[in-house]
Amino acid sequence: MLNLLQYNPINKHKTKINQIDQISLKLKKYSDEQLKEQTHQLKIKLQNVNFNTDIILAEAFATIKEAIYRSIGLTLFEVQILGGIILHQNNIAEMKTGEGKTLVALLPAYLNALVGKGVHIITVNDYLAERDFKLACNIFSYLDITIGLVTQYTNYSNRQEEYGKDITYITNSELGFDYLKDNMAINSKDIVQRDFYYAIVDEVDSILIDEARTPLIISGTTEIRHNLYEKAQLVCNSLKNIDHYKIDEKSRNVILTELGVSICEKLLSISNLYEISSPWIKYILNALKAKELFLKNKDYIIKNNQIIIVDEFTGRVMEGRRWSDGLHQSIEAKENIKIEAENKTLASITYQNLFLLYKKLCGMTGTAKTEENEFLSIYKMPVITIPTNKKCIRKDLPDLVYRSEYSKWQSIANECFDMYKTGRPTLIGTTSIEKSELLANMLEQLKIPYNLLNAKPENIAREAEIIIQAGKKFAITISTNMAGRGTDIILGGNPEKITEFKIENFLFGKNNRYNKNIKDIEDILEKEELSILKANIDLNKKNFSNKTRNYEKKDNNKQLYQIYQKLLKEYDLLCKTEKHEILNLGGLYVIGTERHESRRIDNQLRGRSGRQGDRGTSRFFLSLQDNLFRIFGGSSIENLMKTLSIDDSIPIESIILTKSLNSAQKKVEAYFYDIRKQLFEYDEVINNQRKAIYKERKKILNSTFTRDCIIEYAEYTIDEMLKIYLKNNRDRKILEQIIQLLNINTKISINILEDMKTNEVKYYLNEQLRISYDLKEIYLEQLRPGLIRQLEKYYLLQQIDKAWQEHIEKMSLLKEYIGWRSYGQQDPLIEYKNEAFHLFINMITYIRQTVIYLVMRSRLIIDV
Ligand code: ADP
Ligand code: MG
Repeated sequence: MLNLLQYNPINKHKTKINQIDQISLKLKKYSDEQLKEQTHQLKIKLQNVNFNTDIILAEAFATIKEAIYRSIGLTLFEVQILGGIILHQNNIAEMKTGEGKTLVALLPAYLNALVGKGVHIITVNDYLAERDFKLACNIFSYLDITIGLVTQYTNYSNRQEEYGKDITYITNSELGFDYLKDNMAINSKDIVQRDFYYAIVDEVDSILIDEARTPLIISGTTEIRHNLYEKAQLVCNSLKNIDHYKIDEKSRNVILTELGVSICEKLLSISNLYEISSPWIKYILNALKAKELFLKNKDYIIKNNQIIIVDEFTGRVMEGRRWSDGLHQSIEAKENIKIEAENKTLASITYQNLFLLYKKLCGMTGTAKTEENEFLSIYKMPVITIPTNKKCIRKDLPDLVYRSEYSKWQSIANECFDMYKTGRPTLIGTTSIEKSELLANMLEQLKIPYNLLNAKPENIAREAEIIIQAGKKFAITISTNMAGRGTDIILGGNPEKITEFKIENFLFGKNNRYNKNIKDIEDILEKEELSILKANIDLNKKNFSNKTRNYEKKDNNKQLYQIYQKLLKEYDLLCKTEKHEILNLGGLYVIGTERHESRRIDNQLRGRSGRQGDRGTSRFFLSLQDNLFRIFGGSSIENLMKTLSIDDSIPIESIILTKSLNSAQKKVEAYFYDIRKQLFEYDEVINNQRKAIYKERKKILNSTFTRDCIIEYAEYTIDEMLKIYLKNNRDRKILEQIIQLLNINTKISINILEDMKTNEVKYYLNEQLRISYDLKEIYLEQLRPGLIRQLEKYYLLQQIDKAWQEHIEKMSLLKEYIGWRSYGQQDPLIEYKNEAFHLFINMITYIRQTVIYLVMRSRLIIDV
């Protein structure tokens, strides 16, 4: 066996960690002013070492460590310092829940902020972004570092400023949408983001894996092409199953036979159904799907003249949802009801490629090791597991597997009942809202009080508060797996939060449901203190959100701060006593109700228990009817179900079963990984194109002299068209086209041009181009100075955007077509790459030509 100690990353970085400790001792003696001055000093040092951040790492880490101590009174653990080093070196730091990752991120954030190019700390939701932002504001006020925050509520007009801060807290989706919007800006002053430099991604697996399956899309509606839907509908009515197309029910797809293809081509009078410039294939296939695979009153119903989807698993109607990619419209055409507008993608990017735009990237989470390969191959980030501060002693009990789903839920409810009787806090994780409601109903019948949480975005803040208190005695908490993400469960409750709730409740009468009476405040405080509290009832609520140590500084808050401290001390004691009792009961009990689509998410749930060396237990209750096993279990589980004839209520224990369950779960993991990998590989193609286009766009946007660009485009166009001219045996028509396109006044006739050598023609055309353009410029300059530059920029950006949007659409069609065409043929990805390249070149040529055409004729616009 390998010597584990050798692989403990602590040992590798021991010298650095000691060095940080040494410097910390020195900094302890600094005054607050001196500590603040450190930022300035470090910036100078950094300049002198050519911005090599590694050299000042120890000093910067020690500085922020001291700032953390002074501001919130916590001393970072050794493993937290280690986590900071690992993050700085562009890795993923796997650190369990409750290890204090929020603070860990501040170490590399501070160090890298000193470079002055901005640091982004990315979180999964607004609540966490704001929570961590507030904490960082407090801490960094000791260091002269500015902190920004961008959430969905941040006004557009403030965003640029927030992105300009040294460190900015932001959610992944705001980051992505701002990136796309910036690249659609018409004025350079409208751009809000700086170039991406350094990002620390919190809950990195959620963002880079779970959310990476669907790209971010900015869309707008387009006009509907009624006749296409209707004509496709007619064509498909004359096609026959088996002869002309085949139906694949499992994947819900239709495939045209060769005969089918040629009939379509004949009926539509086109030469190639799969030609990318012909829109037909998508409409035909959708019409066929509508005809064969989507049935009225099974897959959808018609209500108020609308197609309404029926969910295939639950049978519930899903109002307001629409099938994508034109399928919904094809069904509308089939049913002869009004065809609604389609959405058109204006810009899109996958999270994979968004994050790869950073010069330096790192992430942290409690659960990454199981997806190590993916992180390494796609993001080039190794996963390094940081040991916990205290040894984890949670017991993960073996799964209990029931034959039927019903008996599984029954036993879960009974287990909750037993736990509730003893007072042991229990957290039950479910995979869907429906299932959590099912359990809630069962608990109601058993008369067990519970908190029910699901991951609706609007509830996130409230949920976080419930999760904080899920470690109190008698707490039974049911949650879907996303709920309360990023907040850890402290046994006995979080005394700071409780104190805040109590005071807020007292002052503002907030009817907080964990804290209905405030009598205990009266028990703890002296009469005089109570009256101070009462006198403060009108106090601005804001003062209270800025709680804790900050009170100390402001005189008028001093009394309140003392009251806060007194209550805190009391609740701290109460919580500690309660924690002690809970530990005697065995700590937090986590119940899983279904294996998730990856082991990682199971681990996330288990990891809620056993934080910071606490006792704890986890157990999964499963059934052979669970979705995952039904769909991915294969024959072994099916056979087991048949042969096992034991009582429903007794869980089965069998090694073969556990093995089959594990392999089913691995199959699901692999399945989703493939989807992400494929998305990534295909997106890589368009990503390189996007980068090129965005770069060109940015160049134009920031340029004050776009004339060069126009001339360059025109010269390219002349070059390209002359090549075509030569290829086509000096076809005179092409010369005419060039002259028409450039709108130049040739004084010599085409005949003379035809007699010239190609080089001479080129020279002549380029010269004429400049002369014409000079004249145009003089003319426009007289009309309105500066107008020509505006026009140039306008046409350039407008045509680039238009062509790019059309290109995205073609690319997505191309991807679909390739999928259809390539049954059994060569590697579809290679084919996709080749065709994508041609499409791109065509787009570029098209952009150049239309811009030239429009600019050379811009006189018309003025005349109108
Ligand atoms: P994670 O994100 O790793 O799950 P958090 O950053 O949410 O953990 O921190 C969990 C809790 O631990 C917070 O209440 C935090 O104040 C506390 N904490 C963090 N670091 C320390 C420390 N060095 N000493 C004591 N408490 C700490
Ligand atoms: Mg966290």
